[in-house]
Amino acid sequence: MFDLNKILRNNIKNLIPYSSARNEFKGREGIFLNANENPFGSPLSENYNRYPDPLQLNLKEKISKIKNIHVENIFIGNGSDEAIDILFRAFCNPGKDNVIICPPTYGMYEVSANINDIEVRKVNLLYNFQLDVNSIISAIDDKTKLIFICSPNNPTGNSLNGKDVEYLLKTFDGIIVVDEAYINFSKEKSFANDLRDYPNLVVLQTFSKAWGMAGLRVGMAFASGVIVDVFNKIKPPYNVNSVSQKLALEALNNINVVDEWVKQIVAERERMSVELAKLPFVIKVYSSDANFILLKTIDANEIYNYLLANKIIIRNRSNITMCEGCLRITIGTKEENKIIIDKLKQYKNEESFIYRPRRDLALGAAG
Ligand code: PMP
Repeated sequence: MFDLNKILRNNIKNLIPYSSARNEFKGREGIFLNANENPFGSPLSENYNRYPDPLQLNLKEKISKIKNIHVENIFIGNGSDEAIDILFRAFCNPGKDNVIICPPTYGMYEVSANINDIEVRKVNLLYNFQLDVNSIISAIDDKTKLIFICSPNNPTGNSLNGKDVEYLLKTFDGIIVVDEAYINFSKEKSFANDLRDYPNLVVLQTFSKAWGMAGLRVGMAFASGVIVDVFNKIKPPYNVNSVSQKLALEALNNINVVDEWVKQIVAERERMSVELAKLPFVIKVYSSDANFILLKTIDANEIYNYLLANKIIIRNRSNITMCEGCLRITIGTKEENKIIIDKLKQYKNEESFIYRPRRDLALGAAG
């Protein structure tokens, strides 16, 4: 049985959170001389001299209506990367606890674990890039606090079997994090409306992908009210700035535009998959439910460098577990996609191509 108190770190359980000036007198009218702000305004066309709403209530109310999730079940972070880091700080005791990740997957789970001095237990995906549920269960011990499941998965692009995720949610006493950064491009259903069934579920989504606002850094975590309370206790008081809150709110009035982009990206993804599969040096194009495609090639480094020399930058994933020879290509506009396909068609037919190995570019965390 999941018991939040059992898995919460003691220092967090006993923490008296910072009480921000903005929070103490929220919604009140008057002369505000309590937060050491500049009384005149900002030397800009708009004023940002006041601290932002620490709990982003307007934005949450709008998200709540659109996603049919209660405001108390929504956490907003400085990107979903902030939520990932908070999960470690809330539940994992440095040097003692462990988490399970399923490579190949998003690189920040491991980086965040390392920053927080938490052991990472890796249970590779199966050869069809689905969860190895039995091995995950075997890897769990009484110090396992979190299991990260990324669906659709980065960098493989496929969605993970929902039944496997449900089984883990029912079996594991710790927290299952379902990272749905790419859910808008998927035909599978989100877990965000299943919070009532699973007190140990945390779903991550983001404004960085389909919503086109990676630069604003707005991510979401959906979870039980008690888990969201823990997140709010830990986060920096003003973690999402005023501009990001305002623009994210504005963006939510333009769902139609985003839906249209998603349709175009999905159509282009399918078209690109067919085109890429025709190339002689492509061994396999993995089926994608996201806004990128993973492909296995006969020589990833050389193709990567060739594209780079032609000012086309993709992601070399060939040094990642189970992704030997793999490249990850984000779906661009129709024009951008045409350029990359045309260039790839010319690969090895071009006299101008000079191979310059760049080992540094093959290194670095997945993401
Ligand atoms: N999860 C996954 C699976 C991602 O691929 C990314 C970004 N590459 C993130 C989370 C982080 O997203 P954000 O911009 O919201 O921090």
